[in-house]
Amino acid sequence: MSLQLIRVSRFTARLLNHGGVILSSATQPPNMGNQFGSNYRSLKDGPPSEPPADNEFRRLSDTDWKKRLTPEQYDVCRQKGTERPFTGAYLDNKQTGIYTCAGCGTPVFDSKTKFDSGSGWPSFYDKYKTEDGGQTVATKTDQTMGMARTEVLCAQCDSHLGHVFADGPRPTGQRYCINSAALGFKPEKDGNL
Ligand SMILES: [Zn+2]
Repeated sequence: MSLQLIRVSRFTARLLNHGGVILSSATQPPNMGNQFGSNYRSLKDGPPSEPPADNEFRRLSDTDWKKRLTPEQYDVCRQKGTERPFTGAYLDNKQTGIYTCAGCGTPVFDSKTKFDSGSGWPSFYDKYKTEDGGQTVATKTDQTMGMARTEVLCAQCDSHLGHVFADGPRPTGQRYCINSAALGFKPEKDGNL
């Protein structure tokens, strides 16, 4: 039993070393602090294109996820919940930068594709693409709630991010309707912040 605990804690430490997500002051418990002193989550370090080694996040247990995430993040990312519209931290964020998965820190959307859809959730007309055209966001048909929708997930850790609809603006015509709680944000280093 004790060996198991040691292994788990080492594993957790390794995950945190992969540029774990800094939780926002808006959603984290008050005693956790926030070194950035802002309402935005961001990656601790490392370029946005740097994915976690291997795919350790896929092996996290439900208990691990509960420890990693705030209750709100857990509800959205792991239970496929939806935050209330017009309440999310990133709805009106106009900063230039990269939106990351709250579960694992992988870049999932670029601020360049963010637009105001009026829906009450952060909206993007395209998903993030790596320099070599790789994709970090996966989609899956979702038949729940009596509707046929397309779910948007982090391809790295399988966290639920939101849904995508075909009523978005040009050039893609897509509207990625994403929960703020499923996102982190890394401002562009040399941007106008
Ligand atoms: Zn992820």
